[in-house]
Amino acid sequence: MNFNLNDHTGAEEEHQQHPYKVLVLGSGPAGLAAALYAARAELNPLVLTGMELGGQAALTHTIENYPGFPEGVGGSQLGELFQKQAERFGTRVEFDTATEVDLSKRPFTVKTYGQEFQTETLIISTGASPTHLNVPGEVELTGKGVSYCATCDGWFFKDKKVAVVGGGDSALEEAIFLTRYATSVTIIHRRDELRAGAILQSRAKANSKIRFIWDTVVTEVVGKDAVQTLKLKNVKTGETSDLATDGLFIFIGHKPNTSMFVGKLEMDAGGYIVADKRMQTSVPGVYAAGEACDPLFRQVVTSAGMGAAAAMQAAKFLEENE
Ligand code: NAP
Repeated sequence: MNFNLNDHTGAEEEHQQHPYKVLVLGSGPAGLAAALYAARAELNPLVLTGMELGGQAALTHTIENYPGFPEGVGGSQLGELFQKQAERFGTRVEFDTATEVDLSKRPFTVKTYGQEFQTETLIISTGASPTHLNVPGEVELTGKGVSYCATCDGWFFKDKKVAVVGGGDSALEEAIFLTRYATSVTIIHRRDELRAGAILQSRAKANSKIRFIWDTVVTEVVGKDAVQTLKLKNVKTGETSDLATDGLFIFIGHKPNTSMFVGKLEMDAGGYIVADKRMQTSVPGVYAAGEACDPLFRQVVTSAGMGAAAAMQAAKFLEENE
């Protein structure tokens, strides 16, 4: 990825002297769309990128359902375009990660490992992270055959066998992508019916490299320095078996990256920030957008839309409260 980042040099003093009008946490579609709208409202927003520059979308090989790109667009390329457009109108993008926030009074305070920022409004677009299986061997073999990103790691499995866990859109999309490299892709799903949409289902079922193991869960990932075998269990019969594989890709959903806001903002049982249709959270002046507050849609287009809406509301809030 080739995102262009601003230089930090000498920035700390400037940040401490001037509260930002809008500070955006996260650089996925929600964050960068929010920044674009805030910048065009001449609010000179600051974006703290978070650890995953471009968010999860930037890890997607091709995005085929973002309007305006009839032939599809690379996830990382789309992120770069979002950033370029936001910067064109005065957004400052910094590669830094918030570690702590104080939302008890305005201006709000955002701390990172080395800096502290003040801001009149805050837009939280911290996204979500992949859910883990939580089975023995998973953590130990992450990076040694266990992966949560086919775009990042697929190449390492050229002419090898891989397994994919999950039955949703991500699992099927990534399984199809992995057939570029792997000799075979085995999709292990805990039910006998897929959750994924019809188009992806037909594509996956028509792909000669893909086979399915139904009603089955992975109970252990086995290997010393690399994944060798998966221990499987059929949830209907209780039957156990071993599957030899070189890699295991896990796509079983996501968890919102919102732990920093526990006790500071209202959240639902899944840890998603509660925001109303104006993207307003339980603290006036604090907005949420994208997967940090959206357990339902999780699309680039919906996240970008929420980001734009959050920025428009932040601009309105500033007008009314200045
Ligand atoms: P998802 O739709 O929540 O699917 C998660 C899958 O993992 C489900 O099949 C689920 O099984 C399975 N699963 C969950 N926990 C499990 C566990 N502990 N062990 C084994 N299997 C487990 O998640 P997603 O596929 O990441 O998609 C998230 C959202 O993004 C969805 O709204 C999806 O439509 C969207 N998305 C869209 C596209 C696209 O439009 N091209 C691409 C990617 C994602 P069950 O089915 O039994 O619950």
